[in-house]
Amino acid sequence: MPIPPYCLKVALPLPLPGLFDYLTEDGKAPDQDWIGCRVRVPFGARELVGWVSAVGVVETPPEALKPIVTRLDRTPVMTAELLQTLRWTAHYYQAPLGEVLSAAVPALLREGKAPPDVCMYAWQLTVEGDAGIDSLRRNSKPQALATRLRSGAVPEALLDSDTKGWRSSMRSLQTRTWVERVALNRADMTGTTPTTDGPALNADQQACVQALQAAKGFAVHLIEGVTGSGKTEIYIQAVRDCLARGRQALVLVPEIGLTPQTVTRFRARLPVPVHILHSNLSDGDRAQAWTAMAEGIGRVLIGTRSAVFTPMPEAGLIIVDEEHDSSYKQQDGFHYHARDMAVLRAKSLEIPVLLGSATPSLESWHNADIGRYRRHRLPERAGSAKPPAVRITDIRKIRLQHGLCQAMLDGIAACLNDGGQALVFKNRRGYAPALLCHDCGFTAQCPRCDTALTLHAGQRRLHCHHCGHQKPRPPACPDCGSLALQAQGFGTERLEEGLTAAFPDFPCIRVDSGTTRRRDGLAAQLAEIGDAAGILVGTQILAKGHDLPNLRFVGVVGVDESLFSSDFRAHEKLSQLLIQVAGRAGRADKPGKVLIQTHHPDHPLLADLLAGGYPEFARKALDERQLAELPPFTHMALLRAESVHSETAQHFLEEVSALVDARRRELKLAVHSSGVLPAGMPRRAGRYRWQLVLNATQRHELQNLLAAIRVEVHALKSSRKVRWSFDVDPCDFL
Ligand code: ADP
Ligand code: ZN
Ligand code: ZN
Repeated sequence: MPIPPYCLKVALPLPLPGLFDYLTEDGKAPDQDWIGCRVRVPFGARELVGWVSAVGVVETPPEALKPIVTRLDRTPVMTAELLQTLRWTAHYYQAPLGEVLSAAVPALLREGKAPPDVCMYAWQLTVEGDAGIDSLRRNSKPQALATRLRSGAVPEALLDSDTKGWRSSMRSLQTRTWVERVALNRADMTGTTPTTDGPALNADQQACVQALQAAKGFAVHLIEGVTGSGKTEIYIQAVRDCLARGRQALVLVPEIGLTPQTVTRFRARLPVPVHILHSNLSDGDRAQAWTAMAEGIGRVLIGTRSAVFTPMPEAGLIIVDEEHDSSYKQQDGFHYHARDMAVLRAKSLEIPVLLGSATPSLESWHNADIGRYRRHRLPERAGSAKPPAVRITDIRKIRLQHGLCQAMLDGIAACLNDGGQALVFKNRRGYAPALLCHDCGFTAQCPRCDTALTLHAGQRRLHCHHCGHQKPRPPACPDCGSLALQAQGFGTERLEEGLTAAFPDFPCIRVDSGTTRRRDGLAAQLAEIGDAAGILVGTQILAKGHDLPNLRFVGVVGVDESLFSSDFRAHEKLSQLLIQVAGRAGRADKPGKVLIQTHHPDHPLLADLLAGGYPEFARKALDERQLAELPPFTHMALLRAESVHSETAQHFLEEVSALVDARRRELKLAVHSSGVLPAGMPRRAGRYRWQLVLNATQRHELQNLLAAIRVEVHALKSSRKVRWSFDVDPCDFL
């Protein structure tokens, strides 16, 4: 048999680097149309679904080559660009391509199922319908619907989003053959739906929009715009421009940012259906959105983290809203950062990417400083809205009621009596962070983690926020038998209890991950209070997302712990949180007030924020990072390992550490290694956790080292006894 010169290079979902060679079913040389198609292939005793990444020359001995079992797609499901980016991503994050594919591709497609039908439908009036409208009962639902169709076909996606119960009205029209359902083709996707007008952009906004219009090819734009400065208006205009050029747009938002409000706002203003992608969707819906974009039927996608891996054959723009948000970083498995991936994809797609935030990450800030990103400043709120007045109140030696000082209670009372809403922010859910024995000092600890248990459900239960362990509160101290067990500190539940007692005439709504577990939980809760005077108490969930037009007072309680954290990013995170929460006050025409109660009124972080806002903080923090040789001036990678027996993980990392030392000497790489250290939380969910921190001034030196040890680490016997992972550009050290 002649040796076939060409084979399929297939990416397989395996913890192994590289591509695998296969022959086509009939042995014929494959053409380029295979790239991006899925194939079912034999692998050992199993069959796997893989992606044809390239067609190329055979590199393995030909007798070892096997033909594929079946070709699953006739036309590519993935673009060549995306496949290439995913492979590069796997290399960058030292992750197996299989894991990268799992994060990037909807489950249905990974399993080899057919891509869903993404044809979209619209409804239009028939000739009879057009003549018949006037005979319909006035102001009835069918009449309103038929009247709307008079100005053209309306896509179902749009009706779904803006007209409740439209299907039954449509059915009644259809039985008279007054309306018909038509399939939309791609040309219809570029501007059929009517849109509402937004405000005229101000000069700062226009400058940014024009810079984007003028952008050719890849460029990163960073909007540093205070809350309410009109960033979202810029996004909308930029997406409209992109659509008008016949291109697709991707808008990434943080987990919490993808609210019905956000989606409604984009839908109202864009002339095409808006697709949604997030992790709470069903497998079918995820595959639907992904495929719609891949086939070009979808023109705009709003999604959370993993949406960054959506194929876009006609990509024109990527936007990352709240680019500093930590939910963009995947914390387990394949530790990618969606903001960085967005920049990478924009580069490989040769399109602009727009990053926006009131509090940009120090990484992005630095990139703008050195001219790698183009900075656009929106220092003022759009329209007539005024910035909030921020005050700090010293609570040393002050008597607190329900954990709140008198100034805080007065501030809330004044706001409520004026008909406004007050937000009390505490970054701690549950009733109280600890249960303490007043007689012997015992505190309730999680048996599986190095952490205290949090009191919940009034005071009836103890929960671990790290492993989910739960138990009833003990009636007496397990150590000394005393009944003097006390709740220590304040969580959102306890604040809610206190605020309800202090302000019995006003509604008090608690918002934290405990109360918003259902996806529409938060929306429902906020709808309940509406614009009425009342109190919202909650965690960072309240720091962003929903627009609260009547919010006039923000009280910040209990930031003191974060002022003294050992994590080098703690101050950055805290500043962002404070600015974001404070930015919620007084968005409309009523100016807002912000009060921060603290035992450390002179802390430099608070002083900087008060004096010069986030820019002042960012400048100083970057100077400190530079002196301390920390990111973004250096580059970091973490090797984490955990196991039930502490020595097993520790021993594995010691071996890795030896490898690191050997390779960096051999290859003369300037990479600093921390040696093996316990993780920020040395035990979690019954596993002991260790880490190794690598740090280098030059990114390529770090990358070279990681690439050099990767295969060897996989080959270590000790690696099979522990859970371990690489975390390149780690965001936390817990
Ligand atoms: P951000 O995304 O920066 O928080 P938004 O785009 O949501 O800001 O704008 C905040 C509010 O100001 C919104 O109600 C928006 O409609 C309004 N707004 C934005 N730009 C303008 C403008 N140029 N003129 C008047 N109002 C504006
Ligand atoms: Zn005790
Ligand atoms: Zn625990």
